[in-house]
Amino acid sequence: MQAAIEELKKAIRDVPDFPKPGIVFKDVTTLLKDPSALRTSAELLASLCAGAGATKVVAIESRGFIFGSLVADRLGLGFVPVRKPGKLPAKCRRASYALEYGEDSLEIHEDAILPGERALIVDDVIATGGTAAAAAELVTGLGGRVAAFAFLIELGFLNGRARLEGHEVLSLLRY
Ligand code: AMP
Repeated sequence: MQAAIEELKKAIRDVPDFPKPGIVFKDVTTLLKDPSALRTSAELLASLCAGAGATKVVAIESRGFIFGSLVADRLGLGFVPVRKPGKLPAKCRRASYALEYGEDSLEIHEDAILPGERALIVDDVIATGGTAAAAAELVTGLGGRVAAFAFLIELGFLNGRARLEGHEVLSLLRY
């Protein structure tokens, strides 16, 4: 297990000063293009989430879609996209949030989550936790509940999980 984690960490590229000075960007494209690392990351992330009791995967644009759909398929769950404003075609709800580097909004289709559904909220990276918190706000706004949050990468030094207090926060690779 530890060897697999180290293999995945090696497959992720650090890009300093992207998208702005001072940010070390965790670039997962180097992991995605490696067939062994891609499969291992999907399998380990899915097994980490298997006990969360989720009824839907809710994933955040855009890298969250990649890992979220792999996890949804492995757990036999449906997939719900949370997207940047103006991308989803049907009636939406919107939530605003602060990024590690800026501010943005997210949208979800109004009929994507039914009252009482348990969402597994997936993204590639948790930094400050603002993005994931906004996704949770969208889920609960539709009457759903958060089963757990799941991230491939947790930037622990930013303590994003404090923003998600009261919920289970799962992550595979911690820095
Ligand atoms: P936050 O809302 O601060 O937790 O930021 C999380 C979102 O921003 C995720 O969708 C990440 O893809 C992206 N992000 C933030 N910081 C980084 C980073 N250092 N490397 C890669 N992605 C990041």
